Parts: sequence; C-alpha cells; structure tokens
Amino acid sequence: MKDLLGGKGAGLAEMSRLGLNVPPGFTVSAEVCELYSSHVAAEKAGASTLKPVFDEMKRGVSFIEKHMSGRAFGAVSDKQGGSQPLLVSVRSGAASSMPGMMDTVLNLGLNDQILSDAISAEPKNERFLLDAYRRLLDMFGDVVLGVPHSEFESRLNGIKQDNNVTSDEQLDPNALREVIAAYKEVYAAKSVTFPTDPEEQLHMATEAVFASWNNHRAVTYRRINKVTHLKGTAVNVQAMVFGNAGADCASGVCFTRNPATGERKLYGEFLVNAQGEDVVAGIRTPQPVETMSAAGFTEARQRLDECCDTLERHFLDVMDIEFTVEGGVFFCLQCRAGKRTGRAALRIACEMVDEKLISPSRALLVVEPTHVEQLLHPHFDPNDVIAPSDVCARGLAASPGAAVGEAVFTAAKAEALAKQGRACVLLRAETSAEDVGGMHAAQGIATQRGGMTSHAAVVARGWGKPAVVGCERMIVDELGNKAVFEISGEDGKSTELEIKEGDIVSIDGDAGIVIRRSVRLGAAPSASSGNLARVLRWADEKKTLGVLANADTPGNAAAALLNGAEGIGLVRTEHMFFDTPNRLKAVRRLTLAVDDAMLEQALEEISKFQEQDFARIFKAMDGLPVTIRLLDPPLHEFLPPQAEMPGIANEIVKDLETSGGRTPRRGDDIKKSILERAASLREANPMLGMRGCRLGICSPQITKAQCVALFRAASVAESEGAVVFPRVMIPLVSFVAEFEHQKSIVRAAFDEVREKFPTSTFEAKIGLMIETPRATLVASELAKTADFFSFGTNDLTQMTLGLSRDDAGPTLARYAKSGVLTFDPFAQIDTEGVGKLVELCVRSAREVKNDISLGVCGEHGGDPKSVGFFHDVGLQYVSCSPYRVVCTRLAAGRAAVERSGEGER
Ligand code: ADP
Ligand code: MG
Ligand code: MG
Repeated sequence: MKDLLGGKGAGLAEMSRLGLNVPPGFTVSAEVCELYSSHVAAEKAGASTLKPVFDEMKRGVSFIEKHMSGRAFGAVSDKQGGSQPLLVSVRSGAASSMPGMMDTVLNLGLNDQILSDAISAEPKNERFLLDAYRRLLDMFGDVVLGVPHSEFESRLNGIKQDNNVTSDEQLDPNALREVIAAYKEVYAAKSVTFPTDPEEQLHMATEAVFASWNNHRAVTYRRINKVTHLKGTAVNVQAMVFGNAGADCASGVCFTRNPATGERKLYGEFLVNAQGEDVVAGIRTPQPVETMSAAGFTEARQRLDECCDTLERHFLDVMDIEFTVEGGVFFCLQCRAGKRTGRAALRIACEMVDEKLISPSRALLVVEPTHVEQLLHPHFDPNDVIAPSDVCARGLAASPGAAVGEAVFTAAKAEALAKQGRACVLLRAETSAEDVGGMHAAQGIATQRGGMTSHAAVVARGWGKPAVVGCERMIVDELGNKAVFEISGEDGKSTELEIKEGDIVSIDGDAGIVIRRSVRLGAAPSASSGNLARVLRWADEKKTLGVLANADTPGNAAAALLNGAEGIGLVRTEHMFFDTPNRLKAVRRLTLAVDDAMLEQALEEISKFQEQDFARIFKAMDGLPVTIRLLDPPLHEFLPPQAEMPGIANEIVKDLETSGGRTPRRGDDIKKSILERAASLREANPMLGMRGCRLGICSPQITKAQCVALFRAASVAESEGAVVFPRVMIPLVSFVAEFEHQKSIVRAAFDEVREKFPTSTFEAKIGLMIETPRATLVASELAKTADFFSFGTNDLTQMTLGLSRDDAGPTLARYAKSGVLTFDPFAQIDTEGVGKLVELCVRSAREVKNDISLGVCGEHGGDPKSVGFFHDVGLQYVSCSPYRVVCTRLAAGRAAVERSGEGER
C-alpha cells in the first residue's frame, strides 16, 4: 500500500480505519507521479496528461464535501445551507519518509470573493480567514509559482514592525489585510498571477507537488539515503482543519516516546493558535506537550494520549505524529515510524518487549543495523575533561554522539571540505532542506535557532549525526564566515568569542554543548552489556548464518571475539607484513629474491613471525575456526616506486652481507639481478597478474613455508591447551588442477609438522576462495576435493563486471549521478549478476557434497542488505571486519525473522 499511497497517504488511511479523528481526504497514487515525471522528461505538457486524474479528483473533492457538511469547495455555501468554504491541503508523501524535502500547499480554495462572502456569513471568522488567505498566497507563490518565501517574509516583517507586534498571531484583521495587499504586490512585481479559480489552484498545486519529487533537495536526500526504486510521491488532498482559528486551537508534533533517549513518555511540542508549519519553522518557540492541559487543552491532551497509544499498539513501533486542535477538538494529521537515535532504538525495543507489546523477533526489526552502528560511533573520552571555559555555547542535545572538526558556516563549504577528506562541523543559524548535502558531509551540526523537532534536529537524528540546536548565545554570521559566542566570564561579565572558518571546534550531542577546542574521542560502548547485548542475544538466537570476522593480526582477532565473532573467516597473511619495518623488508626480499638461497632465507625470516602471529591468533580463537588464506599479494603493493628501487637494492645487498652472506654471488651482480627482477615484476594489470594461487604454484616454497608455519603454530597452541580448527584457504583458484597442486603442498606440510608434534590431534580443512567466474562454473568439480568454499565477493565482483575495484570510484560516482547504477556493487552485492553466480555455485557444490561449508569473506559480508541475500542463498556463514560483526549479527537475525514472518508481532 505504501508504494502506491506513500507513507503519509497509507498512514492517513490506516488511522481513519482505526477510528482516529482524521480530516477526510483522498490520495492520488505515486503511479501518477511516475507518469507525470516521464511526460515532463519527454517535454510533453504535464497538464493534459493529468486530465483524467483531475476528473477523478473532482469526485474526490465531492467525497470530502460530503463528510464536511456545510462546506463546499470554491463556494461559501452548499445545498445544506452551510456558510463556510471548504479549504484543502495538497500534501506530498512518498513511500519512504523524506521529511520536508518535498512540497505541500495549505489553505487552498480561497480567493477575494470567497473570502469576503465567508466573512459576511461568519463575521467572527474574519481574522482567521484573513490569516488563512495570506498563508495561501505565501505558500502558493513559493511552492507553485517559484516566488521565494523570503519575499513574502520580508513584507510580513515590515508590517509587523509598523504595527509594533513581534508575533504573527498578534496581527489584527486590518494588519492582515495590509499583508494580503503587500503579498499581491509581490505577485505583481514578479509578474505572476495567483489563480483565483480554486479548481485551478488544486490542479496547479498537484502538479507542483509531483514536480517537487525531482527538486534538487529531494534528489540529494534520496541519493544520500540510498532511496531507490520508488515511483514518486503520492498527493494527499485533505480537508483543512485549523489550528490558527483562535485561542482554543493549536498545532503540534509529538513522538510517542523520546526519540533521543527512548524514554517512555510523550515527547513533543505545540503552538497555540498556529498552523502546523509554524511549529517546524521555528517562528515562535513551541511549548512542550506536558503543558497542554495547563494551557487549557485538557480534552485534546487526553485524545493525544489515546491516539499515541492506539498507534503504538497498531504499528508496534514508536510513532511520530502531527496533530491539530480546532476549537478544542483533536485531529491527527500524520503518523509515521519515528526516526530515533541508536540508543533510543535499543531502549525502545527492549522496553516494548518488557511491556509485552512486541516479541523479541519483532524487536529485531525495530532496531536497524544503522542504529547499532551509530551507537558504536565515537563519544568523547571522559579522561579529556572539558572545562567550563572550553564550552562556548549550550543548546539542546538534539542528536547524540561526538564530533570534532573545522568550523564551517555553509553547507557548500562542508561538502567541499569533506571531498578533501577534512573533518568539519557545520555551524548554522538554522538549517533547511537546501543544506542536507552539507549536513551529511559534516561530522556534526550546531544551530543557533530551533527546537528538538527543528529541521536540523530531525535530519541529524535520522542519520545518527551529532547535533546541538538552539544555541542561543551563538550568533552565526554566514556572510561574514564566522560565529560569535557570548561567553560569561567568572566575574559575571560577558565577553565575545569569535570562531572563524577553519578553527577547530567539537560538539557533544549528548550534553548539548559546543566546545572551542578539539576533544579527544574515546572508546565505543561495549556490545556485551545493556540493551545492545539483549538485542544481540535475540539476534543470535534467530539467525541461521554464522558471523565470522576477517582478522589479520592477533589484535584484530581479540576485537572480533569481543564483538561476538564465531571464528575467523579470513586471515590475510600478507597483512601481517605491514606491522613493522623489518617485516616489510623481509617481504621485499622475498618478492625480489633472485635465487633460491635468497628466497629460502627470506621465507625463514617470514615464517618466524608468521608462526608467532598464527599461534597467538589460534590461542585467542580457542575452540573456534580460523581460516587462513595463503599469500595473495598483489605484488605491486610491496614494490617500492621505480625511483626508490636502486636504494632498496643497495639496502638488501647490505643486509645480505651482514646477515652472513649466504648468497654465493657478489654484491654488484646481486644488485643488478634485483633490479631486473623488480622490472620483470611490474605488471600491466596487477589485479589480473601474479597473485593468489598463481604465486604459490610458481614458487611452491612460499606455500610450503606458510603452511609449515601455520601448522606449527596450531600444534604449539594446541600443546598449550587451545582447541584449534585451522582451515587453509587457497586464493584465486580457477582450475581444479590449481587447487589440487596447492592442496598437495598443504597436505605435505601438514604431515611434515605432524611428525614433529606426534601427540597433536587437530585436523586441517582445506578449501578455496571463489573469486573468478570460472570457479563458479566448475564448482561441482572443485567441490569434490574441497572441504569448503568462501566467496571472495570483492574479486568476484571485479572480475564479473570487468571493473577494477581500485579504479571504480569515479565511474560509479558518475553512474550514481546519472542514475545508471544507483548502488555500489563493491559495497552491496549485485544480486542479479554476481549473486546469480553465487547461487549457481552454491547449488552445484551442494549437489556434489551436501555438507560442504559455504561462506563469504568479501566486503559484502558486512553489508546488511547483502547479508539478507546470503541468508537467502543458504550460506553457512558470512565473515566481515571485526568492527562490523555486531551490526552483522543483527542483520543476520533480522534476515531470519523477516523471512520467517515471525516479526509480525
Ligand atoms: P511534510 O511532509 O513536510 O511534513 P505535510 O504534508 O505534513 O508536510 O504538511 C506540513 C504541515 O501542514 C503539517 O504538519 C500540518 O500541520 C499542516 N497540514 C497539512 N495538511 C493539513 C490539514 N488538512 N489541516 C491542517 N493542517 C494541515
Ligand atoms: Mg508532515
Ligand atoms: Mg581476492
């Protein structure tokens, strides 16, 4: 339903089905938007396309009139003798929520004539009708006719000054008439015409809402949030109810629970005598909903409570609602799942389970992997004490987390710095939909104005980006590229502090402070306690996929274990080489070995530290499988640049001489040979070159030395009490013969080591990585002799697409921009292409060997969407970076629950 009606339309329909008080209306489906957009793209006239739609909308309006007895659209009376016009709103709303990105027009259905007729029929409505009209002129001009809202705003401000009032609702009817006249002047100055025919207003507004689907900010928002495959926005036409019709009227927004902390308590704000737009626009400071009863809205507050309760029970989630009170009567205008911080998401899920509102399975769907990721984001190190004098502004803690970076004052600058890889903090007077690109690029956001439901707060929370809003003592001078902070000194006198672009600031979104220096970031919270641990326990119970980690060093292995990894799915042996300069030197000597003696010597050295590292990893992973991939160095990564080669060669010769000169040749000869070897190693396509098993086949000593080291390590670890499960993995296999060649070396090494450790009992599994398309095609042959397959989806993607993963960036960026490809196949598995190969491979392998172990160890193993795919294909495990293990456990649990349908309640 959501796909057709959009989130807002579906929510409205659902709410009225639940018997909540919703103003009558109808929804034009998103399919019409798709049609409209395609006609616009083909430069056909949009209006004629929509003719049949407009005809049907007419029937919809009659439906509304029937439910709003006494009101008619485009007239002050209908047959039932009513005296007031029907006004409607035309509201955007796509299947996935895009807060404030698209357009909405309110109060449609007025013109000079209808206005004066309505006033004569009901003189007491004069002020409110005038207010509605001036709002319509402003919004219609802005949204439909492209007259900037600021033009209207500055006229309004002028008139407020002339009348000595500070707030809109203080304007009396005469002042409002002045405003209307001034707005008409704005239209005239811009040579645009306000359509007086309400029907035409409706049509134009509908088209404008469709068009807003493709406005710059909506497109940016969808790109950032990876919203794809939507048809467009639906259009909701709905009878207006008026929060601005007097002192017993109000508009507000409310979360059923606190979206920052998760506390179970209504959390919202409302404004008396205002339309909903005023609440978010920050024109007046709204009051917290707790004060509703005290402000005389006792009955409405009760309805609000009931409404929140009904919605939570129905949707089984925290809801974010918009409401209006007209003449004391409560109306609900919108509901959607509330965007919340990671911390809030976990607390809410756990508490809803405790309240028996939802099951643990459902809780897994309520918490999203990004929530968990967010929670694991950095916070400030408590040891780096922030002195009161460091704090330059205090505001509302709108979105938790810590951020440090260069101060910037425009969204554009934030984007520019982020492109250079520089961290920045965006300081703004307030933010609007135009700023989303820069807000996303910044580490954190602080604003001078706005409340907890302001644009900055809502958007930042959605992304889990730290934000502090409403810092009243910060004055952002966007044009002057600086911010001025009013700071009270110890003597009580206040001084000014100026922060210029590029000055380092920190913000703490938990404490709601802006700090004038760089604050150190601390460790992430633990996954083994609190709400996170509870949710992960549920995920572990439900998931069928094992979650292993890619860990290359003993330190990585420890981190993986702490995060709940069930083993290691990939040790990239070559990554051990980057640890110290000595190790790197040894690998260079290995790579550049010009004779067997030199090769053996280098291998001996390498084996020593490999054996130590492997032993520590085996011990750390006591009782869990450890999958070690044999050396797969793209050689160029270890070769120094050509210009540095002679120096390196000299160094190697010197090392050889001092280490006992095991080489039979003279220094100069060796140097020459080394340079020749280096030259011969340079490849035109290193990614398709001497790597993977090819290296081990051409230099079998390398495979043997590694295997001896790893089996010795396993034996030693076992003798010291660890239970070891070594799995040896041969990389980049295409031919069965390649695998068999390497496998026999592995076996021989195993036997050799076993002789030296006759009491050891562990068994070794020998498998391979599936990284070339050919391997997927001959899987049934490979499966006959292999104990396991692990999909190396990075290479498999690169080779299936014929797109170099190291160089794909610019291509993919352009593809994304032009809509050719909306996802990054190196981050999210290409299910239709690469995924088909994986499926084929799984099927053929299982036909031959039903119990063959199948997993994945590419980057995709840590991507929640891809994890869902791997679950569906029936892999036994995914292996991802240690830091993604926590999210992946959740993703795997969610995949299981989603597929089984257990998460319904
Ligand atoms: P957005 O998607 O930006 O939230 P909405 O369509 O929800 O846009 O409209 C913004 C605001 O306009 C709402 O919060 C609500 O207060 C007000 N509004 C929309 N429709 C009506 C209506 N029928 N009656 C009264 N207020 C309305
Ligand atoms: Mg809304
Ligand atoms: Mg690979």
